[in-house]
This record gives sequence, structure tokens and C-alpha cells, in this order.
Amino acid sequence: MRFPIFKTKIEGLNRKFNLLDPKEQKEYFQLKAGKEIEKLRNFLRENTFVAYLLGKKNSGKGTYSKMFAEVILPERIDHFSIGDMVRAIDPELKDEKKKKELIDYLDKNYRGRFSLKEIISALKNRNTKTLLPTELILVLFKREMEKREKKTLFIDGFPRELDQVGFSLFFRDLIGHREDQDIFILIDVPESVIDQRIKWRRICPICQISRNLKLLPTPKVGFDEEKKEFFLVCEKCGVKMEKKEGDELGVEPIRERLKLDGKLIEESFSLYGIPKILLRNSIPIKEAKKFVDDYEITPEYYFEWNEKEKKVIVKERPWVLIDDEGIESFSLLPQPVVVSLIKQMVDVLNL
Ligand SMILES: [Zn+2]
Repeated sequence: MRFPIFKTKIEGLNRKFNLLDPKEQKEYFQLKAGKEIEKLRNFLRENTFVAYLLGKKNSGKGTYSKMFAEVILPERIDHFSIGDMVRAIDPELKDEKKKKELIDYLDKNYRGRFSLKEIISALKNRNTKTLLPTELILVLFKREMEKREKKTLFIDGFPRELDQVGFSLFFRDLIGHREDQDIFILIDVPESVIDQRIKWRRICPICQISRNLKLLPTPKVGFDEEKKEFFLVCEKCGVKMEKKEGDELGVEPIRERLKLDGKLIEESFSLYGIPKILLRNSIPIKEAKKFVDDYEITPEYYFEWNEKEKKVIVKERPWVLIDDEGIESFSLLPQPVVVSLIKQMVDVLNL
């Protein structure tokens, strides 16, 4: 399975953008996809579509779809995560009144292989290893949709396994998006990128925002002189960001999961009848000049400690990684990937 390289470079255009700056990011999108953004905006004011995000864990599904929404029309587009939906049920189960409402709803709408008692117990005792029954996910999703106003949806976390792929083809009927176009968005990210995203991930203990010491630092970086360690300072809360236990192992603990995710993507690739958008995160170094601008490539950040001035010096250099086929590559920043998403979306919707 090959994901094509998408060209975001415009010949003869020499302007550079700092994509971390929101104002420059806006200008960047206008310049690279202004026409397409306008078309999508006009379309989405009156219409909706349903898109399924299929990518390995930590492949950036949330990042891409949220950025798409933000650039196009945030109030008409929702990123919907099945994982978040299931987690939101925990407090409901603890509240007697809400628990009863949930059970009543399931009683009326759930059809499947398990009794209500088994279903509630599966919800209460779920873990990351076992999956909830598909029929349950579908009915919870339907309930969630009934509570919301109809919007364009980016669905994250469904289908999650091979035998759920078939269900997704009838999903839009189930949730009352019958006339909508449904689309699969397949995301290809090398495992070495996922590995580094996990290994260097830092999380704010207060607001839970997640950044990366090597790939996405905060503006303020500190140095622990005792431990000889650099750390990120949360931009919003001003506290030291921390690493989560086990993150230093990178992809090691989730290898099996990544393999399954990979199979799922491959399976979806060969489905007929549903249009596919292919997003690619990496680009072979020797192709990079032809297809993308330098500022669209993810740099690697590193730090030096100036003992005399007690100051951290932040430096960056191009980040070279080995992709899943063993090719020396660069990783793209989210913005050029979203440009390719926007342009492919316009094609799929025939705008
Ligand atoms: Zn914070």
C-alpha cells in the first residue's frame, strides 16, 4: 500500500511562514488553499458529511481534523471521539438518576448478543485490552447524535477493528445523516514518528495539555540543574510539564495495537463505494525539495544551558527519521497535511 506524496509547494513563491504563529498560519492557508477553503465554507453552511479517521494510535487524527475545522468553519464541524464518548459514561454510571436514564435508553434501543446487565458490567469494567461490543458502540453513538444538532462529523475511533468496517458503510443511515457523503480518511505515519511523539511527550499536570520536548516545545523551557534535565513550562498554567509513566518506552507497549491498526487501514484501502482521502505524514528526503517548502517540515528542537546567564538556549535542526520502508525521511508539520486534506476534500465532494 502506497500513499502518494502531496505537493504543497507553489513554484516561484518565496515567502516563508512561521506556522507556530496563528496569524501567519492563517495567511499560509489562504495562500496555499484559499479557493478551496471558500468552496468548502460555502458547502458546509448548508450541507454536512461524515468522515471516518483511520490511522494508527497517535497518528494525529485529532490534530488534523480539529485544524481542518478551525480553518474552514468551526461552528459547523465536530471532531467526535468514540473513546471520549465511552469515558463520559463513567460519571453517568455513578449518578443514580442518570444511570437509570441510560439503562432506559439502552432498554429501548439496544439489540445485541449481551443482556443489559452484561452491558453495564462491560462498561464499568472495561479496559484497554478488550473492546466493547459493536452493537453497544452503535447505540451509544446514536444516543449522542440525538442530543446534538446535525453537523459535519469527523469520527475518531470507529471502525476500530476489521469486523466493524462493514458497519461503518451503513453508519450514516443509522445516525440520520442519510443524504450525506461518507468518506474514509486514511492516515499514514511512520512508527518512528509515533515512537518519538510518545517518548518525548510532556503533559501539564493542571490543564492536561500535551506537548513534546523534542518536536513541539512550549515557548518557555526550563533546566533542572540538579538532574541536568530540560523541561517544558506550560504556557497557560506556568508549571513544569511532566512525563507520563511508561512513555519513555515509546511504541514498545502498543506494538500489537499498531499492527492491528495497520491491518485496518489496509483493509479499508481496498473497499469499494466509499471515497478515500489519503494523508501522508512523511516525505523521503530526496523528494522533499520538489514537493514541499522547508518551513513545512517538522524540525527537531534541542537545548543548551548557558551556565553564566542561567538561561536555556533553544535550537532547531531538520529532523531525519527512517520511515516504515527504511527510507530516510522528513516528517511534515500538520499544516501542509491539512492543506492536502482540504484539496482532496474538495475533489471528493465535487465542489
Ligand atoms: Zn497547563
